[in-house]
Amino acid sequence: MTRKLAKLILVLMLTICASAFAEPKLNVLIIDGQNNHNWRATTPILQRILKDADLFTVEVATSPADDEEFNKWDPDFAAYDVVLSNYNGKMWPESMREGFEKFVADGGGVVIVHAANNAFSGWKEYNEMIGLGWRGAGFGDRVTFNDEGKSVRTSKGGGPGAGHGPQHDFTIIVRDDSHPVTRGMPREWLHAKDELYHGQRGPAANMEILATAYSAKDKGGTEAHEPMIWVIPYGKGRVFTTVMGHADYSMTCSGFATTVQRGAQWAATDKVTLKIPDDFPSTDKVTVRDLKD
Ligand code: ZN
Repeated sequence: MTRKLAKLILVLMLTICASAFAEPKLNVLIIDGQNNHNWRATTPILQRILKDADLFTVEVATSPADDEEFNKWDPDFAAYDVVLSNYNGKMWPESMREGFEKFVADGGGVVIVHAANNAFSGWKEYNEMIGLGWRGAGFGDRVTFNDEGKSVRTSKGGGPGAGHGPQHDFTIIVRDDSHPVTRGMPREWLHAKDELYHGQRGPAANMEILATAYSAKDKGGTEAHEPMIWVIPYGKGRVFTTVMGHADYSMTCSGFATTVQRGAQWAATDKVTLKIPDDFPSTDKVTVRDLKD
């Protein structure tokens, strides 16, 4: 055997060994295609955020524009570890809804981003998964935090329904740093320009609120600490919701990117190994990334 051939065989063997020990990637399916937000601009940012974690493979399922095709739309959710919804539109066909419910009940992960929680007010199981959604005050309960850091539950009909004031930078307050998604985050960090959702409504059962933001009166808000990120178990599955992420510029916040990456890993595996990055926002400084390919 020539030296050259021996070297080639060695390199080949090392490559095979390395790939055998590489962590298998988590498969994410992003759903989009209908939204009262610019999903054509935000889905590529979400893809980039997930790819940058070097932990996920990402595919996108865009709702068919043609009615007949839409009615047959039925992605194979079971082929994925996580479904990330960037969808706020027409109700999914029945078999797709059933497939989604089974996927989550069997242990699948879900990530709900911003207006995806506006969708499907008439779908009971979806409301259970998201806990709180963009609904009127009469739809269900509301959960906020008071200035003492205590969770306050307001019954259906009491207080405001869903809304938001003008967009601005706002402070995220971590309420539970024992959860894998928020562990190691600074207690307060400044999120880049976004809508601050308030008055979200729903069954809010089994919700664990990880972070809130103060909804100030002079920003068209409620003078309450409104939930920003939370988690809910559903069957054997896990659902992670962030109401941040109105536009591509909101998503370039390194704090948003980190919560989506960690939320997706947690939803898929119940654990988080991704570290808090060096560019994570501080209490008084927004940090944005260049996420346009
Ligand atoms: Zn929005």
